[in-house]
Amino acid sequence: MERQSDPGSINLRDLLDHLSRNPLLRNFRLALYRQGEYLEPARRTAFENCSRQPNQDVSSCGSSCHQVRESTFQKVLASGRPLVFLSPCGTLNLAIPFTIPETSAYCLLAEALPPADLADRLGGAPAPFIAPDLAKAKSIATCIHQQIPGLLRQDLRLANTEKTTSRLRTLVDISAEMDLLATEGEIVDLLKESLIILFDLSCLVIVTGDPAASGFILQQSSSWPKTEASPSARKVAEFLRQNPCGKSVSLGEEVNLFFPGKVCHGALAIPLVASGQPLGLVVLPEATLPAGDLSLLELLCVKAASRLHILKLERERLEASAFATRMVTMVSALAQLRQQEEVYRNIVEMSAELLHATCGSLMMLDEKGEFLRIESAKGMNQPLARSLSIKLGTGIAGRVAKNGFPLVVNDIEKDSRLATPNRPRFKTKSFISVPIRIKDRTVGVLNLSDKEDQGIFTENDLHILTSFTAQIAIVLDRAASMERADLLEKLAATDALTGLYNRRFFDERLDSELSRSIRHSLSFSIMLLDLDNFKNYNDLCGHIAGDSALKKVASLLKSSGRDIDVVARFGGEEFIILLPDTSKKEAVLVAERVRHAVESHPFPQEARLPGGQLTTSIGLATFPDDGDFAQALIKAADTALYQAKENGRNRTVPFTRKQAHDNVVFL
Ligand code: GH3
Ligand code: MG
Ligand code: MG
Repeated sequence: MERQSDPGSINLRDLLDHLSRNPLLRNFRLALYRQGEYLEPARRTAFENCSRQPNQDVSSCGSSCHQVRESTFQKVLASGRPLVFLSPCGTLNLAIPFTIPETSAYCLLAEALPPADLADRLGGAPAPFIAPDLAKAKSIATCIHQQIPGLLRQDLRLANTEKTTSRLRTLVDISAEMDLLATEGEIVDLLKESLIILFDLSCLVIVTGDPAASGFILQQSSSWPKTEASPSARKVAEFLRQNPCGKSVSLGEEVNLFFPGKVCHGALAIPLVASGQPLGLVVLPEATLPAGDLSLLELLCVKAASRLHILKLERERLEASAFATRMVTMVSALAQLRQQEEVYRNIVEMSAELLHATCGSLMMLDEKGEFLRIESAKGMNQPLARSLSIKLGTGIAGRVAKNGFPLVVNDIEKDSRLATPNRPRFKTKSFISVPIRIKDRTVGVLNLSDKEDQGIFTENDLHILTSFTAQIAIVLDRAASMERADLLEKLAATDALTGLYNRRFFDERLDSELSRSIRHSLSFSIMLLDLDNFKNYNDLCGHIAGDSALKKVASLLKSSGRDIDVVARFGGEEFIILLPDTSKKEAVLVAERVRHAVESHPFPQEARLPGGQLTTSIGLATFPDDGDFAQALIKAADTALYQAKENGRNRTVPFTRKQAHDNVVFL
């Protein structure tokens, strides 16, 4: 204020601040006038843009209000008596003259702010002057007129400073209290309460939120009807972007953009911002505050914003650590799985759970790196999914696999990178597709779509999924090397011609089955097979045909038994089968089934064999009846087999005590 030192020791700004806090003038905005000029340029501007009705032409009001005020000022300064008058735009005004001895005559102008509820009922138009207000306004004008000379004699600066100091003290206390609060709701409640009480506010709205997540939502409002209507999160975010520090902004009718459907003439808006992050907004509709009060109010808002920011950081840290724990649990569960199919299925399930997606697929690149095949899928027909194969570089997943970059799409139809129509099997148009890379090589692609809430996938989702796929890659890499090791082990245990287990492997399994059966008092049987007249078959058909007959017999043996049975090539055209948990009686049934399978299978040129068919003889031995160690059991089965040959071939003979005298094992 340029002239504040003019009237000797009297500070006119202190006077104005003091009057602003006078409860009688709570619903008025104030300015000081002296002979042809307002004493504060900002206030003059505010009064020149007077509270006209929203749709009223500027020229019809702005200048005429100004003229009416000018002439009223002249009148009251001349008469020395207060006056109540209506401006052309319908607002009620008080003009209260006062004189500072040996300087000049002044006029306090007080323009009534329309009560918020009345303005609302009238669809936002300024409240017109109504009869009961006039009486009240006159008494306020008279009262203030009488108070001013007394105030001028007081040391207002000291009074104001004392008041400010006491408020500062309160502010420090509130600040300390805020530090103890643990939730956003509690902070907002305390902020609201403190603002209303400390600054004598009649109306206030607080919105908070996160533009990156759910947007800004109404947290608290007081005395402003219908504020339950959700604020425009986009407009609030835009305002906060434009006002990135916590300074209050005086708004005109544009404040209504924040609250669609509400109408007010102006407001003070205080951004809740900390460390450059927008956290919310405090709006004081129809409020004018003395400069000192405004600074204190801003300070309180800065404190609240900083607490909100700290809580947000703490929440994010907790979420991140919960997410990391979840991820570790998932990945270690994956690492426990032995079956590759299970690993693939779990990868899809877990990633869908992480991103709340209802559909997903894991595609793996074939060995040549040419085609992607769906190994597991969620939310789509599995056999159909498995039958699909996508060429590298084609389609969305094909492109992701080729260039190795992930893709997050909000709307498949609008995305300039894709612009393809949404497939009918998907409910939403947003999806995410991430490559799985092992040591700089893309090995597959993980796709997710259709969020549970039908929302869109965000950059944060991408971050989560990329962290997950990085872990998956390690598991898959390990699974692949384990698979290679398994394969090598299997090769070492397998007979090259028939693919059955070899004798070495069989012996190991027989030993472990013996120990298990001894431990649990179980019985088991072994079955020794020798093809009949196979030498003849070789002679008739040649060795190559003989080999393929051996392969065929091997597959017949495998398919006639159970998964737990161990089928091995014993040597030449002899086979041996271990039947866990099988008594001799049951073993005879199995042996007969096997024998019948070989007998009934049509082998080429078998008609020329002595019996007209390629057949097998089978000897059986059972633990513990026929021997209690491996060699004894094999010897018993061999004795029985010999008996089968003796008895005419193509038959099953179980070992019996009668044959026992032959069953001597030399150790
Ligand atoms: P039987 O057992 O009924 O007494 O008569 P056999 O002619 O089958 O007699 P034996 O079991 O002693 O004959 C084994 C024959 O099986 C010898 C060989 O010609 C044939 N053989 C053994 N191993 C292989 C093989 O790996 N491939 C082929 N093609 N023939 C084999
Ligand atoms: Mg033989
Ligand atoms: Mg034979």
